Amino acid sequence: MLSIKLIMIIVGVNVNILSSHHLEEATVIVDGHKDILKARRNNLYVNEKSSERYRSPSEGFSIEWKDKSRSYEGSLEVWAEKGELILVNKVEEDAYLASVVGAEMVPGAELEALKAQAVLCRTFIYTGCRHQDEPWDLCDLTHCQSYRGLETVTAATWKAVAETEGMFLTYHGEPCKIYYHSTSGGRTADARSIWPDEYAPYLRSAMPTAPHWDSPTPCPRPCPVNIKPSPSLRTSNHELLRVPQPSFRVIIILNCQPR
Ligand SMILES: [Zn+2]
Repeated sequence: MLSIKLIMIIVGVNVNILSSHHLEEATVIVDGHKDILKARRNNLYVNEKSSERYRSPSEGFSIEWKDKSRSYEGSLEVWAEKGELILVNKVEEDAYLASVVGAEMVPGAELEALKAQAVLCRTFIYTGCRHQDEPWDLCDLTHCQSYRGLETVTAATWKAVAETEGMFLTYHGEPCKIYYHSTSGGRTADARSIWPDEYAPYLRSAMPTAPHWDSPTPCPRPCPVNIKPSPSLRTSNHELLRVPQPSFRVIIILNCQPR
């Protein structure tokens, strides 16, 4: 019998970083060496010398701008467009995921929750690029997935990525379309009602469930308005459920356990 498998190998992703800050100037630090980058129209200046592109080595770097700074794994490529620096971080997939999981989840989330998020974030990468017309795969905003470099990387997020290595969600052999949220209004919507072109049978409206209630009396659904959201209700404390095909569903549910 002939068996065909789809094998996807992604060694790295290109992420456009800090674009929301519209930087005209920034300092890049690699191994203690500082370079001052400035954008003037479509021209890049590195330490006041005109340069078409700036490329850092791959061992990681920091960026300082105004009174802020941030550090990243991987390498950096910079050019100028319309008076702004375009900064693209090329980073290995696991390092990217370790950062994204920390950014998308509440600090201190349990390992199993981080692992579920890691699977979602990895699946999101594999579902395809939202920036086909741009020279990067992903942005660092919630348009794609929130990414803040080493700022959100912890031992726990690395562990979650490592323990789910290579795992992503598929439906009929294709990576699932992934949508997750940080804040729930009490019920998700059918994806089709939001994005008519994004139909997938598993993207159905679902009520949150409460699998780990401390109280013997479960919260009625939807939760009454006089219950104040706990921190876990306001943040990304997700749990992932998988139901085998043909009734395959991916449900991101809020763990609305009172604390
Ligand atoms: Zn994006």
